[in-house]
Amino acid sequence: MKFQPRASHFIDGEYVEDTNGAAIEVIYPATGEVIARLHSATPAIVEKALNSAKNAQAAWAALSGTERGRILRRASDIMRERNYDLSVLETHDTGKPIQETTVADATSGADALEYFGGLAASLTGEHIPLGGGDFVYTIREALGVCVGIGAWNYPTQIACWKGAPALACGNTMVFKPSETTPLSALKVAEILVEAGAPKGVYNVIQGYGDVGASLVSDPRVAKVSLTGSVPTGRKVYAAAADGMKHVTMELGGKSPMIVFEDADIENAVSGAILGNFYSSGQVCSNGTRVFVQKGIKEAFLKRLSERLAHAKIGDPMDEDVSFGPMVSENQMNIALGYIEKGKAEGARLVYGGERIERDGYFVQPTVFADVTDNMTIAREEIFGPVMSVLDFETEEEVMARANDTEFGLAAGVFTNDLTRAHRIVAGFEAGTCYINTYNLAPVEAPFGGSKMSGVGRENSKLAINHFSEMKTVYVSMNDVEAPY
Ligand code: NDP
Repeated sequence: MKFQPRASHFIDGEYVEDTNGAAIEVIYPATGEVIARLHSATPAIVEKALNSAKNAQAAWAALSGTERGRILRRASDIMRERNYDLSVLETHDTGKPIQETTVADATSGADALEYFGGLAASLTGEHIPLGGGDFVYTIREALGVCVGIGAWNYPTQIACWKGAPALACGNTMVFKPSETTPLSALKVAEILVEAGAPKGVYNVIQGYGDVGASLVSDPRVAKVSLTGSVPTGRKVYAAAADGMKHVTMELGGKSPMIVFEDADIENAVSGAILGNFYSSGQVCSNGTRVFVQKGIKEAFLKRLSERLAHAKIGDPMDEDVSFGPMVSENQMNIALGYIEKGKAEGARLVYGGERIERDGYFVQPTVFADVTDNMTIAREEIFGPVMSVLDFETEEEVMARANDTEFGLAAGVFTNDLTRAHRIVAGFEAGTCYINTYNLAPVEAPFGGSKMSGVGRENSKLAINHFSEMKTVYVSMNDVEAPY
């Protein structure tokens, strides 16, 4: 099999196998064929990975930030040089079109390695002068062994978004990809070693939720960073709390996108397309509740349908294809189930709405209009190519409705009224907001959610605070005054 890795796990600088672990079949979502066979980690593998990360951590943290950064930047260069091959792998692992994977996966991972590699040498504490000549200095210290647990939609990106800041700060990592997409994280581990990372600094083990759970509860682990759904987030956060571990939770969403009558309709349609159909809608920050002001509703829907007719659906390895399959049969059935609910609850189907008759797990890009706030498709995260269009009349009304959700990952507004744009984003209860665009996530900017969508932030300088902690050192320049 062309995509079969040398072994299932990558621990202590090398590939490791234990065939006693439960079988994991990797399926190419465009055809349903098995492209690799792996094994879930046994307790012995979990133990080996955690020991390796623990043993490597002190020496890694003792390197200068410049040295750690140089390794991360070298890894970034290697990833960029191999972008095409890594993208082919990512396309087979996830089903996402090669048109997307060549610009949004290994490249985004490389951005994170480069950015945090660049920051590594500048990570410091501070000097705090006090009265009478006393002072405090702070030392920024690594947390220790960090666990990363990934979802299946952006496997390379998630492996790097968690690994790069963790390693820059002097932590080591055990990363567990989703069992649906286990292949590319192994490549990230290989590349880091090739770039000079000492063995044990970045380990990858495969497995189902039980493997993730055993990592989270292990006393050697200081921090857990999860990208996943809200129900999994709840479990992982609770297990981490038991050991008082640090957490970052990047969870799901049902984000609003508001389009006012004065917006540039072409831009708003582009935003709605990117925010609903990129990666076949399997993006956590998608703006799946598109609120369109009444006066432009029909014009918006007409342009949207015209442009969706130009989506080229098909073999994701064809460079002209812009819309591929969903990641798995299971995920396809979830999306089709929601489409049926939308129809049954009275939403107006404007576009798509069916499985595509061909091999693999293809669902048409689907648009419902006349969606109301209480319909299931407007309340629950679908994680598929299903857009809900809702109408509104006033700014005040739409603001309240946009925030009426347990989630708070992202939110966007399209308008040409400058003051309204800023007023709207000030009112959004969401971690990541957009004005006149949607779904961009550059490494320089913090990314993460409010409310049930998460805790903490990835990317940007803020991620450093989530992968390190400050030690305070009080220095007295005077005699010690005791009362007796
Ligand atoms: P899941 O929550 O099902 O799984 C996420 C990861 O957690 C998987 O690796 C999973 O393993 C693992 N896991 C499951 N149960 C446990 C447990 N008890 N302890 C530790 N680990 C566990 O999410 P999906 O993989 O289905 O991904 C889709 C979800 O991810 C969506 O809800 C989406 O919104 C969210 N997401 C959020 C992003 C963000 O940045 N906010 C980005 C991308 C996705 P296994 O797969 O083996 O079950």
